[in-house]
Amino acid sequence: MRLLEERILRDGKVRDGNVLKVDNFLNHQMDIVLFGEMAKEFHRLFQTDNVTKILTIEASGIGIACITAQVFSCPVIFAKKSKTKNIAGDVYTSSVESFTHGGTYDIIVSKEYLKPEDRVLIIDDFLAKGAALGGLSSLVSDAGATLVGAGIAIEKAFQHGGDSLRSRGMRIESLARIKSMENGKVQFCDDDCD
Ligand code: 5GP
Repeated sequence: MRLLEERILRDGKVRDGNVLKVDNFLNHQMDIVLFGEMAKEFHRLFQTDNVTKILTIEASGIGIACITAQVFSCPVIFAKKSKTKNIAGDVYTSSVESFTHGGTYDIIVSKEYLKPEDRVLIIDDFLAKGAALGGLSSLVSDAGATLVGAGIAIEKAFQHGGDSLRSRGMRIESLARIKSMENGKVQFCDDDCD
């Protein structure tokens, strides 16, 4: 998506450890007009999939997920990050390795909000090694719900999380795919990352 790519080139900052900072428009200050355009694009891609729920993960996926859900007219569920190891009972839980902070955390979703009849679209800000997306998709399968796919704002294709999940059959649509961030310079995939 041209608009998002241009914004990344203008305002994104490459940090050590292959981290792209996009605090100016996505991860801290949020450009809601841009989110609206991204939401329309996700809707164009998934409009025939009868999405009943959008699932994301706290915190930085929530903004994009909410604006997207307005276009789909469906609720948003955000998976909560939990420090409690032994969560009993009424939640689905999965373990996720953190790309940005290191270590592992659990994510939980109440069984009340994810049902077998749901058709779920996962929305997130970044896809790097695929741990967050893998964790979210396992919550969906634990609920017996259908995963229609994932809509991602920025995929760092050189970290290959997307390849691995796609090869397992997951439909992933990323609005900006980054081929490399060497020497602080962002380069996008022009149909040449696969
Ligand atoms: P993954 O689990 O795919 O390795 O990483 C995805 C999660 O890590 C995203 O939900 C996002 O919060 C965070 N993340 C991964 N890479 C970046 C990055 O380059 N910049 C920022 N701001 N967040 C990232």
